[in-house]
Amino acid sequence: MKTHIVIHHSLTEDSRTMSWNAIRKYHKNANGWRDIGYHFGIERIDRSYEILMGRMLTDTGAHCKEMGMNRVGIGVCFVGNYDYLEPSIDMVYEGAKLCACMCELFNIKVENIIGHSSLATYKSCPGKMFPLELLRKLTTKRLLKAVTNGKSATRLRIVRVTEKRSGDQRKEGFQNLRRTEGDAP
Ligand SMILES: [Zn+2]
Repeated sequence: MKTHIVIHHSLTEDSRTMSWNAIRKYHKNANGWRDIGYHFGIERIDRSYEILMGRMLTDTGAHCKEMGMNRVGIGVCFVGNYDYLEPSIDMVYEGAKLCACMCELFNIKVENIIGHSSLATYKSCPGKMFPLELLRKLTTKRLLKAVTNGKSATRLRIVRVTEKRSGDQRKEGFQNLRRTEGDAP
């Protein structure tokens, strides 16, 4: 059962090309994991932000080994480096949609949306500039709105990235991903 949502950043640049499959490749090839360490990612693709599928929710993650979070935490990665700049409001909003959906599905409390660094002090996730409190607020707002409208917060568009779409990001290469984080069990 999932009790927490653990928020990360990828430490890579959120460039115009897609990083998600490059992160997946890195986690698989360089780290030797069976799949990308996170359950979901948020990334700008072309002009909008998309929620991307990582490993299955039924699968133990590889994103935060502290407090058994790989097992009970849903790992969500905001693609980019938010140590130096804030993510855009659109990106945080997209993340709130996902969080509200997960909170409703698994009955997770909004205060259990936590940053990786709160458990692993040697990490900066989700970045020193990341507005975690805003993410919680927007999530609460969305959950309340769903209740008011008598609709579920679980209506969500999630993109499954196929390997083929990763073609144009080859030029990003591994150099950009050397510092990609993720945390094996
Ligand atoms: Zn992290």
